Amino acid sequence: MHVRILSAGAAAVLLAALPTLGGQAVAATPTGATALAPAAARVVTYDASGAAEFRSAVDRGAAIWNESVDGVELRPAASGRRADIRVLADNGWPRALPGPLGSGTVYIGRQAVNQGYDTVRISSHELGHILGLPDRKPGPCSSLMSGSSAGVSCTNPYPNAAEKAEVEENFSASVGASVPAVRSATVGD
Ligand SMILES: [Zn+2]
Repeated sequence: MHVRILSAGAAAVLLAALPTLGGQAVAATPTGATALAPAAARVVTYDASGAAEFRSAVDRGAAIWNESVDGVELRPAASGRRADIRVLADNGWPRALPGPLGSGTVYIGRQAVNQGYDTVRISSHELGHILGLPDRKPGPCSSLMSGSSAGVSCTNPYPNAAEKAEVEENFSASVGASVPAVRSATVGD
């Protein structure tokens, strides 16, 4: 009924407009969906609730790794969730029991703390083992993985450039694959 009252000219305009409307519909389709997003960091959770007086040192050690590398991010595990890394305090020497890359158990041992070793460097060092780094002893204070060999006066908790690159490589190689444990034995200190 409305068609009947359209003039021939109005109908022509309407028909001419249709392709334009179709074009607009196509243009409205999102075109940015194919843009490549940067590779996301692998999130590894830790539980420092058993780290007693070293809890804040462990949090600082985790934050240092987060500042230092892009391929992995250490986050406190949500309450009630099983963490990839358990951090405990005990009276022995600090040590790590690495599982598959990014998992395992860390002991912040009071024996070294009582001798004067820095708790944040210990935490960062042991987390380094969980991220796949071996000890590099003896070594200078600029190396995190030189551990206790750098002496009690060394308080540097930061990985050096080579240590950062090795962790990036470990996690870049693990993308989309299940990587076996770097080592299953206890890593002392
Ligand atoms: Zn070590």
